[in-house]
Amino acid sequence: MIVETDFCIIGGGITAAMVAEKVSELKPGTSIVVVEAGSRIFDVENRMKYRQRNLDYGENAWPGDFIDDQAAAGIISRTMAVGGSALHWGGVTNRFSEEDLTLRSRYGLAVDWPLTWADLETHYCEAERRLGVSAELGAYAEDHPSQPYPMAPMPLSYNLIVLKEWADKSGILFNGTPQAKNTRPYGGRAQCQRCNTCEICPTGARYSPDFTFKQLLAANKVALHDQTLVRKLVKSPDGKRIESAQAVSRVRNGEAVEYRAKTFVLASGYAWSPHLLLLSDAANSSGLVGRYMTGHAFIGGQIELDAKLYPGMNEQHSLISRRFFRCAADVPFVRHDLRVWESSAGRDPRLKDAAGTLLLGDAALADWRGRTARGATRVRAYYDVHPSVDSTLTLDPSKKNRYGDPLPVIKHVLDEQTQSRKAASHDHIVGVFNLLAKANNGRLLNVSEGNYLDHPSGGCRMGSDPKTSVCDSYGRTHDHENLFVAGSPTLPTGGCTNATLTFVALALRSAERIASA
Ligand SMILES: Cc1cc2nc3c(=O)[nH]c(=O)nc-3n(C[C@H](O)[C@H](O)[C@H](O)COP(=O)(O)OP(=O)(O)OC[C@H]3O[C@@H](n4cnc5c(N)ncnc54)[C@H](O)[C@@H]3O)c2cc1C
Ligand code: SF4
Repeated sequence: MIVETDFCIIGGGITAAMVAEKVSELKPGTSIVVVEAGSRIFDVENRMKYRQRNLDYGENAWPGDFIDDQAAAGIISRTMAVGGSALHWGGVTNRFSEEDLTLRSRYGLAVDWPLTWADLETHYCEAERRLGVSAELGAYAEDHPSQPYPMAPMPLSYNLIVLKEWADKSGILFNGTPQAKNTRPYGGRAQCQRCNTCEICPTGARYSPDFTFKQLLAANKVALHDQTLVRKLVKSPDGKRIESAQAVSRVRNGEAVEYRAKTFVLASGYAWSPHLLLLSDAANSSGLVGRYMTGHAFIGGQIELDAKLYPGMNEQHSLISRRFFRCAADVPFVRHDLRVWESSAGRDPRLKDAAGTLLLGDAALADWRGRTARGATRVRAYYDVHPSVDSTLTLDPSKKNRYGDPLPVIKHVLDEQTQSRKAASHDHIVGVFNLLAKANNGRLLNVSEGNYLDHPSGGCRMGSDPKTSVCDSYGRTHDHENLFVAGSPTLPTGGCTNATLTFVALALRSAERIASA
């Protein structure tokens, strides 16, 4: 089958949804085809049932959201479905800060991004409006947005009010996190009921891209070809353009589908975008496709303190401090966010005490009362680490999908400067946890270091020099004038907080250039 279209968007996650929506507005009447390898799970009427089975039996809340033989070492979410990983996401929409874009000029580290903060900030505002973000102005004025948040913040639960009083005593100031969750009906979706299961939202209050796709389909603004895996991009004879995307239908007996488009947008996320470029030998004159794979490292802990808390109240909601997003240039470099959640650590019901003695009746109750007399909180810091050129996604010839395409393997490697400050970063963050703990007779119970990079990104990094980057700041590949990469793969460095709002802001900025391509 041959499909001709103006725009072919490969991938159906959150960045694809935002690019499709914006291009359809900027170019009304244009033809846009979104090609997604996974299925559409549009049965919103079943979400309450899926939620209940997830609670009762721990089943996947999104049945059928993955492809058996499309997986790889180093990928942290296997979701391949219309909506992508943002079917599952927690909806936390923190912004990066200006420092992320100017690491080289401020600190002599990694690289500067090829766009200004003012430019990105405008697109953060747009991303917050399109996703529907509820938030309050934070404690640190330099982080205030230039336009009001679309919705009032999510009210803090009783637990978070108590924890905020405790945490603020350290002199480090906290706020509720911004979230893509409705505190009033917004975008055709309902208001949050604080039912505490944001992995699957039964009301639609938490943004997920399936809503955008349904709206675009209802208005005939896009065609959606799901269950269709793109296997290769085919270059024109002079190599300057992409002529077609070769795909396979996963439902029609492996039928080949060829997409011919004026413009191609690769919106397949941080792993599958560089993977497809490597399979296609495309956009890689720099040799940097699948290099500088990035994300942020993290350290977490549990703190016990004098406070009466009742865990289980909207526990997805948390506090954030942006105090350490900034680092003076003349002190050792460390940048991180700081989050605080309610915690039920040590409070689970038990029928044996620590010595293994059976507890029955009053003894079980007395044991539980003793363990709940004090409160507990979970703390975590995402911290800024920088990839080396050897932080790679490569093709693994020993692992292939059913079509014979080698699958990717991701190996994160941090640059020398990051490695040399690892111990100091760890000590600083544990010091901050201890500083927090000090109030209310608190005690740091444990500390654990993450063993992967969260909110992964990179692999097609943007830059102005074609020798040291894969695409420009709009995601247009240096090698092919009609091929764009959207969102996460384009980040040169991965920031120190949840990154999806940044992926979306960059994708929306790209959409302006894509629409006029
Ligand atoms: C449990 C969980 C909680 C999270 N919570 C948060 C949070 O609170 N805040 C935050 O900022 N981030 C969060 N994230 C991360 C966030 O979900 C992701 O950063 C974001 O969804 C990535 O979107 P994307 O569009 O870049 O890629 P993806 O969501 O990966 O979408 C890419 C899509 O492209 C499709 N595709 C890939 N290759 C092909 C191909 N060759 N042909 C056709 N289709 C293809 C895939 O099937 C996929 O659907 C969370 C993630 C998880 C798993
Ligand atoms: S708490 Fe709110 S956003 Fe989360 S699942 Fe419930 S209704 Fe949805």
